[in-house]
Amino acid sequence: MKKQFAVIGLGRFGGSICKSLAAEGMEVLAIDQDEEKVREFSSIATQAVIADTTDVKALKGLGIRNFDHVIVAIGDNIQASIMTTLILDEMNVKHITVKAQNDYHEKVLRRIGADEVVHPERDIGVRIAHNVVSRNVLDYLELSDEYSIVELAAGDKLDGESLIDLDFRSKYGCNILAVKRGDDIHVSPRPEETIKSGDVLIVVGADDDINRVENHWI
Ligand code: ATP
Ligand code: ATP
Ligand code: CA
Repeated sequence: MKKQFAVIGLGRFGGSICKSLAAEGMEVLAIDQDEEKVREFSSIATQAVIADTTDVKALKGLGIRNFDHVIVAIGDNIQASIMTTLILDEMNVKHITVKAQNDYHEKVLRRIGADEVVHPERDIGVRIAHNVVSRNVLDYLELSDEYSIVELAAGDKLDGESLIDLDFRSKYGCNILAVKRGDDIHVSPRPEETIKSGDVLIVVGADDDINRVENHWI
């Protein structure tokens, strides 16, 4: 059976999640208290309904307990976000993801049973900061506090070097997952593969080790 999602709050964040899930062919129930928002999503989501989700009866009426994953994307109204999450948790919804506005909001959400708390403005901020701090870090994905995957732009220094010559893994403790060259992508490059200036290296490793690579070669 298809996984069933419900998205509460159809602002920019919730709306975007709703559209992406629908585009992937998932069953999505879109909920908002604003009639106009609901009308906008009636042709996108599997079903779109008007409801104030701080109202227990309203949520029960929607049969929300049967959904596999509920995403609470209520923006600025922190009280409504907390109330909604609390009710969902009391109804034993399997998986609850909530968008937090700030660190205190996040703490409260975790205590009252949110399985996952996202903080899009902050997370994107961290990501953009990484990209602007080092011009040659093109993209960045934090795996944990210590480990990341980064895209590094290879310059002239690396031109013509092979992975064996560099002894990349042994020296830096990092693995090159793939090398992008123009429109081509070489996944799991062979050790003999030589790097060319302009290649983009997708590297996984500890942040300290990735920094060493950047400092030596990028
Ligand atoms: P975003 O912050 O995601 O970028 P936004 O700033 O437009 O977008 P908000 O207007 O803060 O988002 O909130 C998102 C939606 O949540 C709104 O469409 C609002 O109507 C809805 N919402 C707020 N409170 C409730 C509630 N109690 N029940 C249902 N929907 C609600
Ligand atoms: P290791 O000595 O690290 O266990 P290995 O003995 O299996 O590797 P090869 O796979 O033949 O040796 O590769 C030779 C060297 O080239 C490796 O030691 C490693 O430093 C480097 N290397 C090869 N492939 C990669 C990769 N994808 N990412 C980073 N380094 C690589
Ligand atoms: Ca907002």
